[in-house]
Amino acid sequence: MSNLSGKTALVTGASRGIGRASALALARQGAQVLVHYGRAAGEAESVVAEIRKAGGRAEALSADLAKPDAPHKLAKDVRAIVGERLDILVANAGISKAAKIEDTTIEDFDNLFAVNVRAPFFLVQQLLPILGQGGSVIFVSSVVAHAVVGPLYAYAATKGAVDTLVKYFAASLGERGIRVNAVAPGVVDTDMSSFTKTEAGRNTAMSLQALKRIAGPDDIADVIAFLASDEARWITGDIVRVDGGSKL
Ligand code: NAP
Repeated sequence: MSNLSGKTALVTGASRGIGRASALALARQGAQVLVHYGRAAGEAESVVAEIRKAGGRAEALSADLAKPDAPHKLAKDVRAIVGERLDILVANAGISKAAKIEDTTIEDFDNLFAVNVRAPFFLVQQLLPILGQGGSVIFVSSVVAHAVVGPLYAYAATKGAVDTLVKYFAASLGERGIRVNAVAPGVVDTDMSSFTKTEAGRNTAMSLQALKRIAGPDDIADVIAFLASDEARWITGDIVRVDGGSKL
């Protein structure tokens, strides 16, 4: 894996789950990591402490990405710490909600799109002035954007929107030397995944996959760290499936 020393990275939703593992993976490669969180201040501080204990550089910063102006505030806070250069943005923070078509509320639909689509869109917009040559933006999509998995209609639509943004942003930002990609995990054992909480759920998850185990956050974070690195320098506009061969 390439050395990321001297690089700066922002990981949204880095207090828990895939974001936490990604922040730690980027820090292990030497990047200075900004650990964004929403509500879990204690968890974010423990990620920062773990990175610093290992000799790395990290800061925690919060923003409630359900709020319309949160990306603008977060981008300002990021600039106050890193100055005029951000190398890596991992737009990972997200929420999910399972609901049948009949039971999906307007409020849930709007919240899902606010956090999963609007926030990363405007975060990229607001950080553009400090993203430059060699920059890497990584979104977190999902297997549900390209395969039907349970009653995840509105959530899946947010990930479909993310996949579309990857293509448009990559096409537009390539001439500035900025790569834009996404990882698309399958079921991952985090707070978010209801599949991993019961034996029946785990069996269902494994029945969807070619590889027969439940993924952990590190399985995804290692690919995010790869996409951030110079070894992925010729990959842009791609959605990389990291799902143990789900729904083949
Ligand atoms: P998680 O463990 O529930 O963590 C979600 C993270 O997002 C937390 O750090 C949380 O911050 C942050 N977040 C949520 N709402 C926020 C808000 N309004 N403002 C600011 N931060 C907010 O979830 P995860 O499983 O790691 O998911 C990470 C990403 O992977 C998501 O985009 C998700 O859609 C995607 N994904 C997950 C799976 C899976 O099976 N787990 C599969 C495919 C894709 P606080 O706790 O600090 O509020």
